[in-house]
Amino acid sequence: MFEGLSNRLGEVFDRLKKRGALSESDVSEALREVRIALLEADVALPVVKDFINSVKERAVGAEVIKSITPGQMVVKIVHDHLVELLGGTVQTLDLVAAAPVVVMMVGLQGSGKTTSTAKIAKRLSDRDRKKILMASLDVARPAAQEQLAVLGRQVSVATLPIVPGQPPVEIAKRALMVAKTEGYDVLMLDTAGRLAIDDALMAEVEAVRDATHPAETLLVADAMTGQDAVNTARIFNERVGLTGIVLTRIDGDARGGAALAMRSITGKPIKLLGTGEKMDALEDFHPDRIAGRILG
Ligand code: GDP
Repeated sequence: MFEGLSNRLGEVFDRLKKRGALSESDVSEALREVRIALLEADVALPVVKDFINSVKERAVGAEVIKSITPGQMVVKIVHDHLVELLGGTVQTLDLVAAAPVVVMMVGLQGSGKTTSTAKIAKRLSDRDRKKILMASLDVARPAAQEQLAVLGRQVSVATLPIVPGQPPVEIAKRALMVAKTEGYDVLMLDTAGRLAIDDALMAEVEAVRDATHPAETLLVADAMTGQDAVNTARIFNERVGLTGIVLTRIDGDARGGAALAMRSITGKPIKLLGTGEKMDALEDFHPDRIAGRILG
């Protein structure tokens, strides 16, 4: 569906048939194509504008490396800059605090929060040999706590026994106590979601945070929701303070533009990607791969 940016720029520069340093007009024409590619990838307009301006500064006057065409040269500058803006390198979870390390998962309902909680728990348990306890604090959605328990059994990770009627902060405190007394390395808290952000949700998440002091506060956001996901990330970051983002449904046809906008608006790294419904469909976030995907 999307023509590769490299090919499109190749055509622009084939018409120019010149080499040497990139002139302002060469770059401007190429950047029109880059702008279209970014907008098609669902990158928000203000982010696109900033990006184009900073690439322009870098590209005008750049010597074209002998082995590549001017079009490829612009693509390379664009790609490298995108990778840098997306965080440069893979960012892993920071779990060096004293055990039990608390990982708090936040996000809207349906974003993939419970699924991602279980996926991360499975990875930490299977790969890193950590002893994990998961607890659902979602008392709003019927059966949410049971859903996490089912996933826990599926991935062989313990979940906190359900006590009906207990409010979220009390569940969080009980979970922390159990994690301490039973020697768990990591406690994963699956907080309640809502269909939209509201004050009650934020107050609840803040109260859980203050009661448990998470080392990681990860926002789970659905890549398919584009600009909504970006707004969600901004508000959660302002209110609760995020340490990272888990971007789900990257297996869908979203081109990843939301990743760039979330990173640039929150300044917080995307740490993991959800790539499917299965429990092992979780990947590290590689900025270079997403840059390639955004550019098409
Ligand atoms: P929550 O309300 O945020 O806890 O969302 P859930 O974890 O219950 O997920 C909602 C739906 O999205 C479920 O059917 C999941 O299987 C599905 N889901 C979660 N993550 C992914 C993903 O990365 N890719 C795909 N395709 N589906 C996902």
